[in-house]
Amino acid sequence: MHSTRVLVTGGAGFLGSFLCERLLDDGYEVLCVDNFFTGARDNVRHLMDNPRFELVRHDVTFPLYVEVDEIYNLACPASPIHYQFDPVQTVKTNVHGAINMLGLARRTRARIFQASTSEVYGDPAVHPQPEDYRGSVNPIGPRACYDEGKRCAETLFFDYHRQYGVDIRVARIFNTYGPRMHPNDGRVVSNFIVQALKGEPVTLYGDGSQTRSFCFVDDLIEGFVRLMRSDEVGPVNLGNPAEFTVRQLAEMVIDLTGSPSRIVYRPLPQDDPLQRKPDIARARSVLGWQPAIPLRDGLARTIAYFDERLTGAHARGIM
Ligand code: NAD
Ligand code: UDP
Ligand code: UDP
Repeated sequence: MHSTRVLVTGGAGFLGSFLCERLLDDGYEVLCVDNFFTGARDNVRHLMDNPRFELVRHDVTFPLYVEVDEIYNLACPASPIHYQFDPVQTVKTNVHGAINMLGLARRTRARIFQASTSEVYGDPAVHPQPEDYRGSVNPIGPRACYDEGKRCAETLFFDYHRQYGVDIRVARIFNTYGPRMHPNDGRVVSNFIVQALKGEPVTLYGDGSQTRSFCFVDDLIEGFVRLMRSDEVGPVNLGNPAEFTVRQLAEMVIDLTGSPSRIVYRPLPQDDPLQRKPDIARARSVLGWQPAIPLRDGLARTIAYFDERLTGAHARGIM
């Protein structure tokens, strides 16, 4: 009897690296597949000595033939600056990547998890967003490569499920933050923390009244594992329902870092959703899951990570 072999695509990214770590802790064999577009070997370097861990450079838009028991499909850049850098590749990663991983799941009879997103709700007309809300997405805007790509991936997951009986799990992930976010990732939490730690202006887009709900990475990974082990196909919202304005976030980061940084205003990007907050009733009832780590505590842990990284990088003269 071999131990359960799990494929994690995008495993060298922010969320993927924490997932690989958790699965190894739980005794699984982990095959991490990544093309290193936004991920990095450094994110999983501490796992390399584990004989149950294997890292392969591969782009999921090409077929992959491996023997696995479970698949977590996370491959896809998550930050607007990265997914808009090469939008056609973003669509291919979401659509061709999903087809290849579903084909792999079909052949190996592996259960397959899809990292979908709150972006499927677009700029929502319903607040907070329950899973049966169908969303308000601009199909031709600059965010569409990601939003529509993820929507099409969900379609593929449910069609492979209905047509071929593939055993799927679909999670809709809301904004998540924590250590190992890319420092130049452009996402709001990493931007604000890096700016505050460097004493640079904190860039607030628009008037800062738009809202987001931020989930700490450890809470999210617990939700992934619970969904994978449950009988619920999904989609299931996973996120922290505590809602903050982006301005409140900026003030909290400045306060926690004790930074002299001031807030500066920049234009609001096109199609930037005005509000976002998950309705997590389904995750609560079917997974018994809810986030445990409040924003202030999670931010403090994330600030400690970036502080160490920036100080180390500064000492080595690279930032
Ligand atoms: P990330 O950018 O850190 O990780 C994505 C990983 O996928 C990177 O390691 C990247 O190199 C890899 N990748 C990209 N294209 C690939 C390809 N074609 N083939 C192989 N590997 C590829 O982002 P993350 O925050 O860890 O996000 C992971 C997943 O979760 C993504 O699918 C993202 O859409 C989803 N998600 C994240 C959030 C969040 O707030 N972090 C919210 C919603 C959904
Ligand atoms: N595929 C893969 N690994 C596998 C099996 C399939 O990458 O182990 C890819 C293959 O490229 C195929 C896609 O998944 O094009 C979809 O597979 P499916 O069996 O659904 O369709 P078909 O093979 O008929 O195209
Ligand atoms: N944002 C900001 N300053 C920044 C980066 C982002 O005010 O330096 C805003 C952005 O306009 C959005 C929110 O913060 O309203 C969250 O942005 P992020 O890119 O992190 O995630 P998403 O928009 O995909 O939820």
